[in-house]
Amino acid sequence: MAASDATQPAFPPVLPNRHAEAPRAVDLDKCVHCGLCLNNCPTYRELGVEMDSPRGRIYQMVQVATGQMEMTPSYLEHLDLCLACRGCESACPSGVPYGRLIEAARTEIEAKKSESRPWHIRAFRRFIFGGLLVTPWMLKAAGGLLYFYQATGLQQLVRRSGILKHMGKMGRIEHLAPPAEYPFFFDEVGKTFPALGEKRYRVAFLAGCLANFTSARLNEATVRVLQANGCDVVIPAGQTCCGALHVHSGLKDEARVLARKNIDVCVDAGYDAVITNAAGCGSTLKEYDELLEHDAAYADKARRFVAMMKDVTEFLASIEMVAPRAPPARYRHLPGLLPSGSRTEDPQRAAAGAGRHPRPDIPRVAPGGSLLRQRGYLQHRPRRDCRFHPSEEDGPREQHGRRGAHHRQRGLRHPAAGRRRALWKTAARHARGGTAG
Ligand code: SF4
Ligand code: SF4
Repeated sequence: MAASDATQPAFPPVLPNRHAEAPRAVDLDKCVHCGLCLNNCPTYRELGVEMDSPRGRIYQMVQVATGQMEMTPSYLEHLDLCLACRGCESACPSGVPYGRLIEAARTEIEAKKSESRPWHIRAFRRFIFGGLLVTPWMLKAAGGLLYFYQATGLQQLVRRSGILKHMGKMGRIEHLAPPAEYPFFFDEVGKTFPALGEKRYRVAFLAGCLANFTSARLNEATVRVLQANGCDVVIPAGQTCCGALHVHSGLKDEARVLARKNIDVCVDAGYDAVITNAAGCGSTLKEYDELLEHDAAYADKARRFVAMMKDVTEFLASIEMVAPRAPPARYRHLPGLLPSGSRTEDPQRAAAGAGRHPRPDIPRVAPGGSLLRQRGYLQHRPRRDCRFHPSEEDGPREQHGRRGAHHRQRGLRHPAAGRRRALWKTAARHARGGTAG
C-alpha cells in the first residue's frame, strides 16, 4: 500500500441519509476484525458460520452502511439469529459496543423491512409488544391461563397425546413455556415492605412483566433479602415492562414510552436505589440514558434514573450486609448474577476503555469467593461457576439464564441445532455420572 493510502479507510464511507438510528460509523469503525470475540459467541460456536459471528455480523452491517449490500433476507436472518447476549462485548479488546450496533441494526431493519413480514407475523408482534407485555390485565390473564394449563394436568395430557408434533413451531414453543408460579407477584405492586430492624435505605423494586408470574418466588425472595438488610422496599405502582424485549427487537420508540413511565414512577420519589433482579431487564434499564439521550424532557431524568439503577447483587455488594440469622443449607433461587451487558461502576476498567459496559467484577468485590458465600449465605460451592468461564461441559453459554432463554428461542429457528445441543448436554451429564441438569 502506498504511504498516501495509509490514512484511507478500509471501506467506502458510510452512506449519507441513513436511518437516524442505524449503526453509527464511529461504532462500526472500532472493529479491527481480529476475531478474538469469535469463541465467545454462542451462535458461532453452534453454527460454525462466520456470518453468524460478531465479526461477520459487523462486516455485514458495514456493507449495508456503505451501500455495498442491500438488506437481503440473508442479512436479516444472520442478524436475527444473534442472541444479543453481548458475550462478544466483554471479549473485545477494541471496545466495540456490539450491543448498541445490533440494536441499531435491528431498529433500521424494523423501520425499513417490517412491512415485508407476513401479515400474521406482524399481527403477532403487535399483540406481544404493543399488548401483552405492556398491559397488566393481559399479563395477569396470560399468567392465569398458563397456570391453569400446567396445574390441571392439561399440559401433560397434551404432551403425551403427541399433538404437539403436528403443530410445527407452535408445538415447539409449548416446550419453552416457563412454569407459572402461583400466587403471582402482581398483587404486591403498589405496596411497601418495611425494613426489618433499623431502616437504612429506601429502595424501589422493579418487578418486571412476565417475571410477575414466572419468577414470583424469586421476586418475593429479593424483597425479603432487601428487607433483612435494612431496606424499605417499595414496589412502585405504575411501573411497567422495562422495554428490553422491544429494544432487542428494534422497537426503540415503543421502548422509550415504557422507559418514560418507569422513570416517572422512580426518579423523583426519593429512593436510594432502584433495584432489579433480572439480568436482561437490568442491561436495558441501565441504558435508559442512551435510549432517551435526544429527549430534551427526559434526558436528565434518565441519567438520574441510571445512576440509581442497581442489580440486587450489585446493591448488596455496595452496602454493609446484615449477617443471615440462619443460613439455609441450600440456596435454590440466587438473585441472579450480573449479565455481561450490565453496566457497573468500575473506574479501572472504564479508564482502560474496556467497552461501553465494563464487565461486573464481583470476585473483586469479594476476593474470598462469591459475595453470597463470603457473607455466609452459601454453604456449598455450586457445581458450576455461572459466570464467564465456559468449559467443555458447559457448552455455548447455556449457563446464563438470559442466554439460555434466547438459545431456546433460537432453537425454534434451528431445530437441528437445538437437538444437537440437547444431545450434547445429556452426554455431558452422563459423563459427569449425575442426573441433575
Ligand atoms: S468485535 Fe472486537 S474482538 Fe470481534 S473482531 Fe471486532 S475488534 Fe475483534
Ligand atoms: S451478542 Fe452474543 S450471539 Fe450476538 S454476536 Fe455477540 S456473542 Fe454472538
